[in-house]
Amino acid sequence: MDSSFNILLLGPSGAGKGTQAKLLAEKYGLKHLQSGEILRNMAVQENDFGRKVKAAMQEGFVPSEWIFKMIEEEFSKLGEQGVIIDGFSRKLSEIKMLCDVFEKNGKEMDFVFLIDVEEKKVIERLINRRLCRDCKQVFDARDMDSAKCPSCGGGIYIREDDNLESIERRLEDYRNETSLVIDFMKEKRGIIEINGDQSVEDVFKEVCSRIDKK
Ligand SMILES: [Zn+2]
Repeated sequence: MDSSFNILLLGPSGAGKGTQAKLLAEKYGLKHLQSGEILRNMAVQENDFGRKVKAAMQEGFVPSEWIFKMIEEEFSKLGEQGVIIDGFSRKLSEIKMLCDVFEKNGKEMDFVFLIDVEEKKVIERLINRRLCRDCKQVFDARDMDSAKCPSCGGGIYIREDDNLESIERRLEDYRNETSLVIDFMKEKRGIIEINGDQSVEDVFKEVCSRIDKK
């Protein structure tokens, strides 16, 4: 059954936001808005904006104003369906734009979860993060006993930015910029903190129980 509430997930890279968003979208019938997917869909469109997005992606930088233009378009297609978002909120300017999109569309951020994980654990997780080329699932190298995807047998790869230098840069951005986002949302809506240092199943159970309680 589709639900009409909306969820925002905050937390450092490696906290498992993408995995939780996917599970929550399935369980509650929410639309999962992902920046990568939105950009790719836009870049294949045969219009001026689509071509501009494609060129910007190839250069490796898409202005956040464009991304929010795309999010607004996605929102206009939602109708009564709820949405779950696990990105677009690393900086204060981004979260403010995101709040505007919600307000303009008459939607509330009903649940804002902060999935928190210690930095040391984040680094360990990201260094060991492996993805399947075929089914796109995420795995931890420490749980794998072969070089093939445990689910579908597909080939495994490491994300280009999952190297120590890039991970430390992301953590620094998180410390400096996302802490402002968290303070802003605490003030504006209230945040539900979830201990992200648990198994995927336990984090999911905790998030669901907080949703179901309301
Ligand atoms: Zn697979």
